[in-house]
Amino acid sequence: MTPLAYELHAMIEADGPMPVSRYMALCLGHPQHGYYTTRDPFGAAGDFTTAPEVSQMFGELIGIWCAEVWRGMGAPRRVLLVELGPGRGTLMQDVLRAAKVLPEFRAALAVQLIETSPKLKECQRLALAQAGVPIAEHERPETLPDGPLLAVANEFVDALPADQFVKTEHGWHERRIGLQPDGKLAFGLDPAPLPALEESLPPRLRPAPAGSMLERRDYTPMQEIARRIAAYGGSGLVIDYGHVQTAFGDTLQAVRRHEPIDPLEDPGEADLTAHVDFEALGGAVQTHGASLHGPVTQGDFLRRLGIGLRAERLKKSAPAQTEAIDAALARLTGPAPGMGEMFKVLAFSQRNLPAPPGFDIA
Ligand code: SAH
Repeated sequence: MTPLAYELHAMIEADGPMPVSRYMALCLGHPQHGYYTTRDPFGAAGDFTTAPEVSQMFGELIGIWCAEVWRGMGAPRRVLLVELGPGRGTLMQDVLRAAKVLPEFRAALAVQLIETSPKLKECQRLALAQAGVPIAEHERPETLPDGPLLAVANEFVDALPADQFVKTEHGWHERRIGLQPDGKLAFGLDPAPLPALEESLPPRLRPAPAGSMLERRDYTPMQEIARRIAAYGGSGLVIDYGHVQTAFGDTLQAVRRHEPIDPLEDPGEADLTAHVDFEALGGAVQTHGASLHGPVTQGDFLRRLGIGLRAERLKKSAPAQTEAIDAALARLTGPAPGMGEMFKVLAFSQRNLPAPPGFDIA
């Protein structure tokens, strides 16, 4: 058993079966034994690889996107460049390198990193030590300074804790994690039905057949970003895997060394995520005053930002890298096993701003 499994046992014995969101929050963020608390999970030697770790092209294009949006905002002399869940700091490094082509933009930036993992904060400090722009650290968006902002969240929302609900003949029930007689962790259903849940579903999903599973998550950090965008101006960009419309299904997944494993096996030692429901996320940020753009697929988004041309230029300046650049291009923009269709991009902006790049073409 992992050290976290012992703690989970004690918690369940004391308080009864726990919601999936509590399990996710502990597995990822427990102060001693959480997955992100204790390790750098990225790269070929780690558990998974994210788009900025695939190629510098990803972060550079997002840097150009930020500069374009800043121009559309009227080029304010100071703008917060916020990243939620910056991982190793690679995306921000690439964004800041790309920003060098527009010195007034770079000079306006005040970087704000929102990160809870002490281990990854260290990685970010190292990666950005020579960045040459002011960098502030936060654990949540509530402590950001006031002012216009550009906010980027790549593979952040999928790590926000999600709850699961299952429809039975008696109505909707919350899925919980308890203990089997042999002491193993196991899923079960809370016996109390939740009659209000059915009414809160989009009409096309009512009534649901027995066996349907619904996932819901708390979008508080993204709502706080949306509230600030509506109040001070700016735009947010969310990139993640998930579905455009709310749909039934169990997407809770654990990944270790690039392989899926049982989400209840080895808690705290595997990445644990659930797909992003972009319809629900869009609804949550809209009610906080921001207007939506997209979602579009990551492949379409990057092509519209000019990844093809960017790849050609890189190949010209480094011909020995041709194969690697083509492979990265296919991985970022192509269909499965590439990320191009599974990953979606959603932007939300202050209402009076023009549509941001990547969303302006039908
Ligand atoms: N954006 C990076 C990392 C993605 S992994 C990349 O694309 O490579 C998820 C990141 O979000 C990690 O840095 C993790 O520590 C952080 N994180 C997860 N939950 C968080 C939370 N509730 N608040 C702040 N950071 C969080």
